[in-house]
Amino acid sequence: MDVKLSEVAVQAVPLLERFEPLLDPEAFSLLRDAAEAGRELLRGRTVWNVNSTATGGGVAEMLAPLVAYGRGAGIDVRWLVIGGDAEFFRITKRIHNRLHAVEGDGGDLGDAERAHYDRVMRANCDELTAVVHEGDIVLLHDPQTAGLVEPLQRLGALVIWRCHVGVDQRNDLAEQAWDFLRPMVEPADAIIMSRKEFAPDWLAERVHVVPPSIDPFSAKNEDMDRPTVRSVLAHVGVISGDPDHAVAYTRRDGSPGRVDHVADIVRAGPVPGPDSPLVVQVSRWDRLKDMAGVMLGFAEHVDGGGDAHLVLAGPNVTGVADDPEGAEVLQECIEAWRTLPHAARARIQLVCLPMADVEENAAIVNALQRHAAVVVQKSLAEGFGLTVAEAMWKGRPVVASAIGGIRDQVVHGETGILLDDPTDLAAFGRAVTELLADPERADRMGAAARQRVLERFIAPRHLIQYGEIFAALLAGR
Ligand code: UDP
Repeated sequence: MDVKLSEVAVQAVPLLERFEPLLDPEAFSLLRDAAEAGRELLRGRTVWNVNSTATGGGVAEMLAPLVAYGRGAGIDVRWLVIGGDAEFFRITKRIHNRLHAVEGDGGDLGDAERAHYDRVMRANCDELTAVVHEGDIVLLHDPQTAGLVEPLQRLGALVIWRCHVGVDQRNDLAEQAWDFLRPMVEPADAIIMSRKEFAPDWLAERVHVVPPSIDPFSAKNEDMDRPTVRSVLAHVGVISGDPDHAVAYTRRDGSPGRVDHVADIVRAGPVPGPDSPLVVQVSRWDRLKDMAGVMLGFAEHVDGGGDAHLVLAGPNVTGVADDPEGAEVLQECIEAWRTLPHAARARIQLVCLPMADVEENAAIVNALQRHAAVVVQKSLAEGFGLTVAEAMWKGRPVVASAIGGIRDQVVHGETGILLDDPTDLAAFGRAVTELLADPERADRMGAAARQRVLERFIAPRHLIQYGEIFAALLAGR
């Protein structure tokens, strides 16, 4: 089988210099000590991250800064992306959906699927064995890479499987996916999950819980002043106004970037003005993100008399390599949008963001989240929900489903509003309306939200936890 393993080139970013101004002295000294210990511990070893896409989705989003900071701390951290054919990604999307307790495309996870999955793993392995050495540490991310655990262990590497997805209440569908994965992941030297509730019983004892994190200095999350925010959004076409202000952001390597591409937008009626409050959800076009439910909830339960507009933004559907359902889900959303009454349609835009340049895409998401009066994440299942942390970091109030990792982030009533039943569109509408009507409360929640992210969900905590797990593993050897 002709599949290509590729390496994502990531430049080192100086970890300590970056975070010193942001952290309090105690937190900073923990980070400094951890970086020193990590350098010592990992001398002569490479830490490999292996996943299945270089752009789009939470895993890629998180790997880029973690790899950059790890390298900046003087550790040889690298990132490889496996190859696969369309059938492989259909199978792994099926597993992904079932780990979230939903059926997905309804296909099997039987012998034929396992045979195909194994073939793709073998093809990737042929290339991996050339670079992974005895004593290296390999972090395999998600079901797409689970089949690499044993082959890499045979080379003498320490292999950690990290699963970013899951549900608190597993059902038969979730068990099917776990049955598929079990023989492959059980032998791993360590298992990492975002919440302990996601682990099936046979794995629970061994799980290290490491919640994801965001990078406060990435193009996605760096500070962006109001004129730039407005200018970026006017340039891509989401709001009206003057796009002439420097449409600028900072790339990871420190060089300046400019937003050149525009968005593909489905809209009826005039472009919202820069002062119209925006309700925003940013997600991949995935049914579990329930973009269609957000649209309906907004159309039916958020006061049409106000000037609020809804923006549902996702990647351009050709942009995410390991997500074959994107185009279909976007199409469903467009169909649902067409059936809305004209007045509702005029307040709702479906936006596909350019993916030609990930950092440009990130800068647009940054602007959208910062401009939002309310950020929503009404997912039906969510491993963590980086978009929630991203919005919280920007001081925005969030209305989000009380599920999975979102529950670890949002403290109901303090840093946002949690929806006990994500399918209750009236409750969703009420929560959004409340926040739109009370900007002071929204700002208070936003400020508390930013503080919570600073304390729990930024890269230093994540790197320190990795260091602890690596140390324990190597000590055990
Ligand atoms: N994202 C993006 N551009 C898009 C849509 C999503 O950069 O057009 C990012 C989003 O900002 C977040 C990530 O993709 O960083 C999605 O991560 P999350 O954990 O919310 O969900 P996942 O896609 O992993 O299910």
